[in-house]
Amino acid sequence: MITTPPTAILFDLDNTLFNRVAAFLGVAGDFYAEFLASSASVGREEAVALMVEWDDDGYSNRAEMRDAWLGQWPEAGLDLDAFNSWYRRTMDRRSGPDASVNDFLAELNRAGMPWGIVTNGSRNQRTKFRTTGLSELTSTVIISEEQGYAKPDPRIYRDALTALGLTSPEGVLFVGDNPVTDINGARAFGMRTAWVTRGKQFPAELHPPDHVIERVTDLRGLLGL
Ligand SMILES: [Mg+2]
Repeated sequence: MITTPPTAILFDLDNTLFNRVAAFLGVAGDFYAEFLASSASVGREEAVALMVEWDDDGYSNRAEMRDAWLGQWPEAGLDLDAFNSWYRRTMDRRSGPDASVNDFLAELNRAGMPWGIVTNGSRNQRTKFRTTGLSELTSTVIISEEQGYAKPDPRIYRDALTALGLTSPEGVLFVGDNPVTDINGARAFGMRTAWVTRGKQFPAELHPPDHVIERVTDLRGLLGL
């Protein structure tokens, strides 16, 4: 348990509050079933592995990902516009609520703990904010594309504090899965950090996080909830 409880908590979205890995695997499987299975030009496992590689957990350049995808499988018969709208629609459908996460966040609200979300990504993150049900739990969501700068730019953490009505990072806990943008960036800004491992090892060359948890709901133990 943390000796002094945090004054507020900021969360990353993808693979912290939202299981993007699972959602993307769903999207890749749907693409195979809808566009590739009938032509049998590639096996399901091989196709899904390629899509996961191009996506790189959402960190790859989106235009390059789409080019690779459409260039590899012309038999899908999709042009860029058709692919984009299919992808958005399917990702939205795969981005449903995670009851265990939302229950935990509702507990934070009942305990009077201020919290918000800071995510690197496009305006589409706002749709995900709704489909996951997170929009019913907080109104504080900071999206890099809307701000014009991304984690680990200190301005985005400052904006998040301002949105919570805070002026100092002291005592604020940042929770995320990315060692650079979530942990190092928030630490450099003066926040305490909790790293969501999702089964990975923290890079030895970086300053370690204050807390290590496997999934976000493990914070209950740290917070004494
Ligand atoms: Mg993340």
